[in-house]
Amino acid sequence: MIVEKLLLHVLIVLAPVLSYSFLFEHRKIGRSPYFLGLLYGAAASLCMYFAYYDSSLYWDLRYVPVVLSIFYGGPISGVITIAALMLTRTAMGGETLFLAYITAVISCAVPFLIYNYFWQSNPKKRVYLSIIIGSWPTLVQLIILFIYIYFKKDDFLVFDQRLLSYIAVFGTIQILAFVFAAVLNESVIERNLMKDEIRRSEKQHTLGELAASIAHEVRNPLTVVKGFLQLMEGEDERHKHYYPLILSELGRAENIISDYLNFAKPEFKKIETFPLPLLVMELSILLNPYALKEGISLTHTIESDAVITTDRNQLKQALINILKNAVEATPTEGRVTIKLMEEDDTVKIIVRDTGKGMTKEQLARVGSLFFSTKEQGTGLGTMVSTRIIESMGGRVDYTSKLGKGTKVSVTLPLTHLLSREPV
Ligand code: ADP
Ligand code: MG
Repeated sequence: MIVEKLLLHVLIVLAPVLSYSFLFEHRKIGRSPYFLGLLYGAAASLCMYFAYYDSSLYWDLRYVPVVLSIFYGGPISGVITIAALMLTRTAMGGETLFLAYITAVISCAVPFLIYNYFWQSNPKKRVYLSIIIGSWPTLVQLIILFIYIYFKKDDFLVFDQRLLSYIAVFGTIQILAFVFAAVLNESVIERNLMKDEIRRSEKQHTLGELAASIAHEVRNPLTVVKGFLQLMEGEDERHKHYYPLILSELGRAENIISDYLNFAKPEFKKIETFPLPLLVMELSILLNPYALKEGISLTHTIESDAVITTDRNQLKQALINILKNAVEATPTEGRVTIKLMEEDDTVKIIVRDTGKGMTKEQLARVGSLFFSTKEQGTGLGTMVSTRIIESMGGRVDYTSKLGKGTKVSVTLPLTHLLSREPV
């Protein structure tokens, strides 16, 4: 009997995840912790309503929706679910009501405490955490039950074969419920992320195409103007001192346009095979005067002698953009380091700085088109770098702590030839 009841609970527990993802998908509701809290609260109450009553104890999976609600809905949702649970339990009354209260308080504290850690973990770890933390209320229930039985010595609540088998069945089905619900929740999250990603890349693709065509149209007249200005420079004595400024500003405009074109379509012009340590040293030498001017020390460590085949200039450009950002983010007396190392069959170029770092929101937006926090910024550098590295079959990862610094890892594959055509 207890098995049937508990399997029914598994169904009840999965209902909020399914109905929420369905409603969310069809945009009937936005993401609301209140609504999610109510859904899980209803599930917890239903579990208790359909509880299996034996040995003066209610056997049900009420803590599964509670833990899921705290983890996947957030603290607000969790509080609502706990309130629903307490209300229902109070309404039900019974011999062991005070035990239920104590269990609820101790059980719910832990998921709240590790909520932040939970969301810093990857999806796989989150499923494990749900199961482990989900077992915590069961453990609390058992311990309290032990103590109760030990001290009270009721004749209706004794430790016998039956109680033990109930505990075993209960524990197993509860873990199953957590596995199902957590995996389901994670797949809903992943699908939503994927949808956002598709929408984002679609938008960027269109923007990129537009930018490229405009940039191309603007570059030609700019080159003509620059040429004529250079011709006039020698003849026009009166405005002589304006020319360097005009030409340098025109050069800047040209650079921005080249960046655009590069972003729209990174072209691999000259594929060559070269040792990466040499490139890293070259970059260090190239950017050292710039860093020194800002009072920053730029150093490099080389732990790999990887030789790579790709467009050297493009890779250099990508790394310059990243290094420039690192220097720009770092205050005087700060440090920027470049590290070259191998990991499995990839080679990594890691740029670390002790700069101002980024907030979570900034970190999420870095690398997207036009995102810049600088007055003179274009928001193109990181985008171009990411595009170049990705067309080489590599990856750029940013990790950052506000006020502490930023770490940019450029990972390039070592095994396959990087000389393939850009996508
Ligand atoms: P820009 O440098 O013109 O602003 P980028 O695309 O190069 O454009 O950079 C975009 C934004 O990303 C920067 O404005 C800055 O806010 C952030 N950023 C990039 N690298 C770092 C870093 N190393 N430290 C802190 N912020 C960074
Ligand atoms: Mg930049």
